[in-house]
Amino acid sequence: MTSADATAQREIQPVADRLKEVAAGATDENAWPIRQFDALAQAGVLRWGLPAELGGIEVSSREMLGGYIALSRACLTTAFILTQRNGACQRIANSPNAELRQRLLPRLAGNEIFATVGISHLTTSRQHLGVPAVRAIPTDAGFELSGEVPWVTGAPQAEFIVTGGTLPDGRQILAAVETSSPGVTVAAPVRLLALSASQTSAVILDRVVARSSDVVQPPTENVMRQGPNVSTGSLSTSALALGHALGAIDALDEHAGRRAELGEFATALRQEAIVLERELLDASSGDACGTPGGTNESLRARANSLVLRATQVLLAATKGAGFVAGSYAERAVREAMFFLVWSCPQPVVMANLRQLVRESSG
Ligand SMILES: Cc1cc2nc3c(=O)[nH]c(=O)nc-3n(C[C@H](O)[C@H](O)[C@H](O)COP(=O)(O)OP(=O)(O)OC[C@H]3O[C@@H](n4cnc5c(N)ncnc54)[C@H](O)[C@@H]3O)c2cc1C
Repeated sequence: MTSADATAQREIQPVADRLKEVAAGATDENAWPIRQFDALAQAGVLRWGLPAELGGIEVSSREMLGGYIALSRACLTTAFILTQRNGACQRIANSPNAELRQRLLPRLAGNEIFATVGISHLTTSRQHLGVPAVRAIPTDAGFELSGEVPWVTGAPQAEFIVTGGTLPDGRQILAAVETSSPGVTVAAPVRLLALSASQTSAVILDRVVARSSDVVQPPTENVMRQGPNVSTGSLSTSALALGHALGAIDALDEHAGRRAELGEFATALRQEAIVLERELLDASSGDACGTPGGTNESLRARANSLVLRATQVLLAATKGAGFVAGSYAERAVREAMFFLVWSCPQPVVMANLRQLVRESSG
């Protein structure tokens, strides 16, 4: 552990402990984790990664990833919502639109407003349909957005959604859409296999005006390639999978303390997690754009594999008691499934499928 890792760990650990205390409450779609977010705000974590001159605290990618690992180890729901909120903040912070940065970032840093992202339709979601999910028509004022944003975590809680649309010429824009704008309808949050408290909804846009002053990225090809390490399969998603796996391994260790026969499994999983954590943190250092050569994707595939195995080992170890709804193991297994579908680029999906088929046929 470097001294920067140790500092970040010292700051984040009390928050993570607090999240762990209240995590069991964050279950159904009515249970937005407000206390958890207050804990993050009080500890200054909502300022992390934002420019200092606009109320933020500059942290390295390594520190941010270390924070995500510690938080998801305690409460995956809260850590996940934080990544979506930070995704919106980072997109705005990297925007060439200075007026937008000045208008929104101090309020985001101060936790006066909540913003989130609805961008998967530009990368992973609905790609096979061959038509844009959201169309952006240029107007004198800026753009008019129409269509359905399929997945927006925390949409019912958000004042702003960073989302995008496709122009008739195929270029794309990103804009910060105010949820109170005429033409914006936030659907009721869906009940999910897990993480329902993230209040993930579809958002319908019906000729919603995005003024030029709301534009986060002006028209460009592949707008999601603009900006650092916020793409699908990014290191943050792997950090959350690893943190969740570590939570399961911690629980397994507790059982191993009472049942010696479990020790070898806890030790093997922890060793794998330690190696993965080192490689993940090293991959983030010194290169805010992530690492070349598909390393991000191979780390994500390994993190997915680890979180699925660690949570299932915990379930098997805790037997029927772990299978009871509401037990930690039962919840951990369901939550691990999330990583099979969330922000998964095609190479990661294929790696997961190959591994699952190989293991079941082997
Ligand atoms: C809990 C949760 C929260 C999320 N939060 C956010 C968020 O805050 N912001 C955000 O931007 N994204 C978010 N996402 C989206 C996520 O990152 C992925 O983009 C999403 O899970 C991809 O799933 P999809 O069903 O939209 O994929 P799709 O590819 O659209 O698949 C949908 C269905 O289409 C069919 N299909 C797929 N490909 C083909 C094909 N080639 N031919 C025929 N049929 C096909 C399949 O039957 C599939 O079931 C979230 C997802 C989840 C599950």
